Amino acid sequence: MSDQPVAVVTGANRGLGLETSRRLAALGYTVILTARREPEGRASAQVLADAGHAVRFQPLDVTDEASIQALAETVRGIGRLDVLVNNAGIVPDPKPGTEEASVFRADLETVRRGMETNALGPLRLCQVLIPLMNGRGRVVNVSSGMGQLDEMNGCCPGYRLSKVSLNALTRIFADELRETGVKVNSVCPGWVRTNLGGERAPLSVEEGAEGIVWAATLPDDGPSGGFFRHGEPIPW
Ligand code: NDP
Repeated sequence: MSDQPVAVVTGANRGLGLETSRRLAALGYTVILTARREPEGRASAQVLADAGHAVRFQPLDVTDEASIQALAETVRGIGRLDVLVNNAGIVPDPKPGTEEASVFRADLETVRRGMETNALGPLRLCQVLIPLMNGRGRVVNVSSGMGQLDEMNGCCPGYRLSKVSLNALTRIFADELRETGVKVNSVCPGWVRTNLGGERAPLSVEEGAEGIVWAATLPDDGPSGGFFRHGEPIPW
């Protein structure tokens, strides 16, 4: 069993997942950096390893049951899991502002694709990995302000539905785990300059990862079942 705490981060070959991995590794976690595209994932893990961090690469497509089981096998081999960051995500919808972006035109296959990656992937990962936390751990579901029922104006019905579902999962798991030491929270990283966020976004990946790392490293008396941006609660 590892002496160091162990963290799994999904979609970690780039963007917020890579920066979260870097930050957790710098805090002393052994990071299992996962990505669906093996060459990119391995290269990103190597960059962290070259900086002296404890990191290992594990291929993971969050929509693929066999790769989820292979990850679980790796975690069992290490014998410890402290943090799960469900970060992998896609915006399945057509470009905002186009006619195709209207909810009236939403293609159900597209919506399903968003649900598979952004909601059902995290559901399976929670089902399979939380039991390996031995009653104490942190789960961070990287959600979005676009999943706030409070503010459903504008584009992207597929993305919004998937993030609302992810937020529901946060509440359901947190409730079922309330007597344990496992905390489950949703985090909106803010609007961040990544492939997904685009280059006009105001925040850097460093700034965006801050709130994710905060939720991943909450103390034992920290919150569970909440939705946060930059460490502050936000409406569902
Ligand atoms: P990126 O597009 O840079 O990164 C998304 C990551 O998810 C990539 O590594 C991608 O892998 C991975 N991914 C997608 N589908 C799968 C899959 N099926 N299995 C495994 N990995 C997958 O975007 P961000 O870093 O910005 O996004 C990270 C999270 O932050 C997402 O959940 C997003 O919804 C959320 N978020 C981002 C915001 C922003 O402004 N950037 C705002 C609010 C929320 P690949 O390289 O193979 O495509």
